[in-house]
Amino acid sequence: PVSQAADVNRLVEDMLELVERESGPRNIRIHRQPGPDLPTVISDPPLLRQVFLNLLINAVQAVDRDGDIFITTFREGDMACTEIRDTGPGISKEDRERIFNPFFTTKAPGQGTGLGLSVSLRIINELGGDILVQSSPGKGASFTVRIPFKR
Ligand code: ADP
Ligand code: MG
Repeated sequence: PVSQAADVNRLVEDMLELVERESGPRNIRIHRQPGPDLPTVISDPPLLRQVFLNLLINAVQAVDRDGDIFITTFREGDMACTEIRDTGPGISKEDRERIFNPFFTTKAPGQGTGLGLSVSLRIINELGGDILVQSSPGKGASFTVRIPFKR
């Protein structure tokens, strides 16, 4: 991977514009809460775009119709964090243990390969970061990508 300065707010916004073509017609409202003092991270921008796109597509597929997606970026210590939260069905405790496994999917054949999260976690781990998942089933899911800006 190349090492290049990347503005997380910019990369997230680029991917949101792609996803809004899908979410708008399904009455999914997207709420942006970009953090003001986010330092740039050193990373591979195309790989980061892929991670944000994977998570946003998962959120749209989870909500399906009539719901909300909240995207918040913030700084936490030396990490640039991006939380993507949706009002879909959420993820059971058992599934939370397996969603990052390659080929794990609960989607119909043709709808998902089960590779999005495993590839995303690998990309973020290579940058020295992590992806946290939180979910109360019935109330939605939240994924937080944390990327260190000191390397
Ligand atoms: P795919 O989207 O192809 O199924 P992923 O690796 O992206 O593969 O996701 C794996 C599984 O994790 C999904 O099939 C789904 O069960 C679960 N999942 C991921 N994101 C969400 C979400 N936002 N809400 C509920 N479940 C999710
Ligand atoms: Mg996916």
